[in-house]
Amino acid sequence: MSETIYQNYIDNAFVDSDKLIEVRNPATGVLLARTPDASNEQVDRAIAAARKAQKSWAAKPAIERAGYLRRIAEKVRANAPRLAQIITREGGKVPALAEVEVNFTADYLDYMAEWARRLEGEVLTSDRAGEHIFLLRKPLGVVAGILPWNFPFFLIARKMAPALLTGNTIVIKPSEETPINCFEFAKLVAEVDLPTGVFNVVGGTGAGAGSALTSHAGVDLISFTGSVGTGSRIMAAAAPHITKLNLELGGKAPAIVLADADLDLAVNAIKASRVINTGQVCNCAERVYVERKVADQFIDKIASAIAATRYGDPSAQADLDMGPLINQAGLDKVAQMVRTAVGQGAQVITGGNVADLGQGFHYQPTVLAGCASDMEIMRKEIFGPVLPIQIVDNLDEAIARANDSEYGLTSSIYTRNLSAALKASRELDFGETYINRENFEAMQGFHAGTRKSGIGGADGKHGLYEYTHTHVIYAQE
Ligand code: NAD
Repeated sequence: MSETIYQNYIDNAFVDSDKLIEVRNPATGVLLARTPDASNEQVDRAIAAARKAQKSWAAKPAIERAGYLRRIAEKVRANAPRLAQIITREGGKVPALAEVEVNFTADYLDYMAEWARRLEGEVLTSDRAGEHIFLLRKPLGVVAGILPWNFPFFLIARKMAPALLTGNTIVIKPSEETPINCFEFAKLVAEVDLPTGVFNVVGGTGAGAGSALTSHAGVDLISFTGSVGTGSRIMAAAAPHITKLNLELGGKAPAIVLADADLDLAVNAIKASRVINTGQVCNCAERVYVERKVADQFIDKIASAIAATRYGDPSAQADLDMGPLINQAGLDKVAQMVRTAVGQGAQVITGGNVADLGQGFHYQPTVLAGCASDMEIMRKEIFGPVLPIQIVDNLDEAIARANDSEYGLTSSIYTRNLSAALKASRELDFGETYINRENFEAMQGFHAGTRKSGIGGADGKHGLYEYTHTHVIYAQE
């Protein structure tokens, strides 16, 4: 990719920014592109364009709105190899996962388009004779979609597809770490002649364009995916205007391994859920509780599996399991958390250090045993390829320790015992539980966390309806 200068996409026009943000490959440090750092005035214009477009967009039949989503999906598929390469270069994602992300994004646009003929209201029974009560679902208006960097391309669709299908218009702000794929997506949108102002992209930082969007009186829904800290700041910014929020925040997913589990299955699934995207996934297995009887055996097996992880520069080598962390701050945070854990008594079974590959933000795939519930490594999101393990005596202890967390996004359990799996499903206080399989949600599910993992959720019917409000009509004959 030669160095390019990207532009904001406002009111169906590509618009220069005076200020630009450099985007570099995290595996090599090579400068890839300069992307816009939108001014407050440009954010205002994008919101005004979305506002102007919204009523006539919502007035179109849903099936017509869905047609645009399908056409964008076709464009995404037609450009899949190029888009996957961009995702690999700007985010450090291995090529196979980048390809999955692109294809999943196209499928997601098609999936949401299918809802066009399934959006339903309700007819309610009245207490009065001759009265009809109708519950309608209506679009909220203008959505601000704020994206993280870890699945940057998919997150565009996760926000714009339900928003547009239900008759909203949108202004997207990609992460300043991985904005290139989003501006490339905007170019594809420009080719399908979506009505003016329905879809807009402004570049910029959280403190800049992000905060201009989330504190704006002209936004009806802030759909945000990112960290708990930013989610909390966005809630404060939204408070003066009582702007509706949809917050998909961090996770600290526990994986429970019982003594009767198929250990090889557990090892493969937990490894997959830890090294995927270099451990930088909200639903990643972030801590393990293993029953004492099988602890030594499990630790041996998982340490061998994790030690065999192939890592390096994914833009130069295709057959890797993981690439670098996103930036220096991410690498420093992981290294500091491991040092602190070791200082508190955790034992490094494999890895445990920054990986010196000459360039890039690489950390060795790491297993830590002897962890305890009060350690930072068992409580805070690591967001890196480090698996801390704690031994427990039984399922009750595992569930209690799993639930003792400020996060409540995903969880998993490995057992052959149906009663244990059902008990865990009932008692684990999380938005998702995976039984005997790796953590990865389906587009027809509902990805939503409890506690600090967020407010509301995404995907499926319930995710779609987050982009609507109800309007109840009482009609007397
Ligand atoms: P982040 O919170 O640092 O940034 C996310 C986005 O928010 C970026 O676009 C950033 O520019 C913007 N932002 C930052 N400060 C802002 C402010 N004050 N106002 C408005 N916008 C602001 O998160 P990240 O590092 O990009 O992503 C990693 C985090 O995202 C992890 O915690 C991960 O668990 C979480 N995540 C959650 C899900 C989920 O579905 N629950 C999915 C992916 C990632």
